[in-house]
This record gives sequence, C-alpha cells and structure tokens, in this order.
Amino acid sequence: MDNIKNTDPEIHSLIQQEELRQATKIRLIASENYVSRAVLEATGSVLTNKYSEGYAGKRYYEGQQIIDQIEQLAIDRAKDLFGAEHVNVQCYSGSPANIAAYLAFLKPGDTILGLALPHGGHLTHGSPVSISGKYFNAQSYELDPGTGRLNYDTIRQRAREVKPKILIAGHSAYPRILDFKKFRDIADETGALLMVDMAHFAGLVAGQVHPSPIPYADIVTTTTHKSLRGPRGAMILCKKQHGAAIDKAVFPGVQGGPHDNTTAAVAIALKEASSDSFKDYTAQVVKNSAVLAEKLAANGFSLITGGTDNHLMLVDLTNKNISGKQAAKALDRAGIVLNYNAVPFDKRKPFDPSGIRLGTLAVTSRGFKEPEMIKIGEFITRIVSAPTNDEMIAKTAQEVTALCGSFPAPGLEHLV
Ligand SMILES: *Cc1c(COP(=O)(O)O)cnc(C)c1O
Repeated sequence: MDNIKNTDPEIHSLIQQEELRQATKIRLIASENYVSRAVLEATGSVLTNKYSEGYAGKRYYEGQQIIDQIEQLAIDRAKDLFGAEHVNVQCYSGSPANIAAYLAFLKPGDTILGLALPHGGHLTHGSPVSISGKYFNAQSYELDPGTGRLNYDTIRQRAREVKPKILIAGHSAYPRILDFKKFRDIADETGALLMVDMAHFAGLVAGQVHPSPIPYADIVTTTTHKSLRGPRGAMILCKKQHGAAIDKAVFPGVQGGPHDNTTAAVAIALKEASSDSFKDYTAQVVKNSAVLAEKLAANGFSLITGGTDNHLMLVDLTNKNISGKQAAKALDRAGIVLNYNAVPFDKRKPFDPSGIRLGTLAVTSRGFKEPEMIKIGEFITRIVSAPTNDEMIAKTAQEVTALCGSFPAPGLEHLV
C-alpha cells in the first residue's frame, strides 16, 4: 500500500489498523468472510476507471472490448456453478438486487410475503423502515413459537390469506436449511412468484452442502461477499423467461453503470467457488458450525432450534442473565467479534435484544477446524459468565491473538 501511504497517510494508517484487527481477532459475524488476494487485486484494479452502462454487445459507451468479455465470463461461470438459465452480475449489493427483483415484477402497492425481520428475515423482505415495506404491501410470516423453525403450514395459510405476488424465502439469521419444494408448492397454490434470497448460504449451495433453490425458484438473488467469498456485490439468477425483465430492472431500473472492477472480482470468486478446495471449505464451515453449536449447548447455552444445519447459529442468552448487546461488547473486548441479534418472539428491544448470532465463514477461511471451535466455545462461555472481569477479558484477548497467530488469514498472511 505504498501509494496510499504517500498520498493519504491517515487512511493508510486506518487500513493498516483494520488489517491488524482482521488478522488478530476471531471474526464470527455470520455475513463476513476473508476474500483471496486475487479478489482483492481485481477489486483494486483499473477496471474501476471504466463506464459500461448496458449489457455485453448493447452498451451506451464505446471501449467495451474487454469489459464485455469480463462480464460474460462472470455470467457464464455463475450459470455453470449454479445451473441457472439467466444471470445478472451487475447488482451493486444484495439490497439493490432485491429492489430490482421487485421492480421487475411488482407495481407500488402490490403484495409481498417474507420472513419477518425479528425472525431472521432481511430488511429488504418488507420491513417497514425499508423501501420494500414502504412502497409495497409487505406481509410477513413468522417462525413456529414451539420449534423456532419455519412452519410451512403457517406459511401456506399466510399466503392464502394475503395472496402475495412474490413469496420470498431466505434469511439473514436462520440456522436451518430451507425446503424449497414446499415453498414452490405454496407459491403455485397461491399464484405467487417464488423468490429465494440466498445471500447468506449461496456459497454453501455452490459447495453442495445446502440444497439449491435454482430448480424451484423463479428468481434467486444473492450477495457475492458472504459465503460465496467474493467482493461486495450481488447477482440475480432466474429462469430464461424472466431474464429480460430482470436485466431491465437492474439497469436502467435501479442502477447506472456497473462496477466492472467488482464484476471481475465476482468472476474470480466464482472460479474459486467451483474448485474442489471450495467444496472442502464449505463442508468444513458446516462441520465447524455444528461443533461450536454442540459445545455451546453442552455449556448451557440455549440455541434457537437446538442447533444448526448451516454456517450460523442464534443463541438466546436469557438464561445467562445477560443481554445480547452486553455479551457482544464484552466478547469484542476479548477479541471475539459477533453481533447482538433478536431471537424469535424476543421480549427485549431490537437495539438491545436477547440473543447473539455466530457464524463460521470467516474463521473457517483462516483454517480453523473442530479443536479451534471447541476453544472458541470455551472462550465465549468464560466471557459471558463474567462480562465485567477485565483481567479475564484481557487474558482471553491474549489467547485469541495467539490462536489467530497460528492461522494466517487469507489476504493478511504478511501480518504473521
Ligand atoms: C446481507 C443480505 C442482503 C443485503 O446485502 P447488502 O449487500 O448488505 O445490501 C439481502 N438479503 C439477505 C438475506 C442478506 O442476508
């Protein structure tokens, strides 16, 4: 980063500090990961200099000889990896991708039905504070109060009641796999389009450790930076018949020029995600998640649904007499970074809810396996039971740094 150092020492110093933070902390935020050096290089390449509104072969500016090939490669790789008929790789991020999907099929006031935000849905699935809840008639379904799981009978009943134009499946905080066939049947029965937002688990689908929504959904949206381990970005995958509507909704509907540097980085991430080593990575992500969940449960933590099938878990801390926020703050001081999170039917307020969310995407990318998960479970148990014990927090922070020192993080190998 010599050029940044010369031009802007302040930003240089801050990036260096963030590098060190990412290298030396145990990062359990379920949506975060470590991308490869190759992805970082593409993101920082001269492709950022280009404007390319439109699509390959139909651009509004000249000089697209190279960009067209880059975008086509990204599209072809996504089609291959996921078995999709049509792919748009221009979406700036997950939220605009979802808005584009709505724009393609809905008019203002039309009905959408998605998982409620406090139950693990995303803001863009119809939350009242989001454009998705303000411009559309946003209805929601909730988790089963008994099991903490999706209840497909309840979802069917809600769909019959509200007759959504789009039924949304997908989540940001649900620890179990989804039954896409059941969602498809409900959509068919109620005349809805089925949209699956696989932002969190797309990488697990690519690695074949989570069922694929592609055969069932009309539209699939995903971010590229969570389990897929690419740059900040998003894609929409859909049936051929919806391709033109989706492309028109992304550009010119919601966006202007695509971020070509990101598109190249997405292409690289897709190539990486089609390798055998990525399959191994995703299998380890799920194993690590299961081991951490088991360890926490053994230590008296209450896990929503009792465990996990994917990369994440939700822990209700009510029986530990600590709020999610207090726990998250104390853990952060000990070098374990995660987020406080509402649990289903939470009695506390969203800004200080009862739970924490943990994910294993990032720690698995740095090579952590089962033994390290057990250690993390022990660290968490220790901190949550004594969140104001400064001495113990400081000691744990040292242990965390030492553990991270033995597992250089991708892109940050130069720091250990
Ligand atoms: C993260 C996420 C998004 C939004 O992605 P951004 O890139 O943060 O806009 C959309 N849907 C789901 C389910 C997500 O988890």
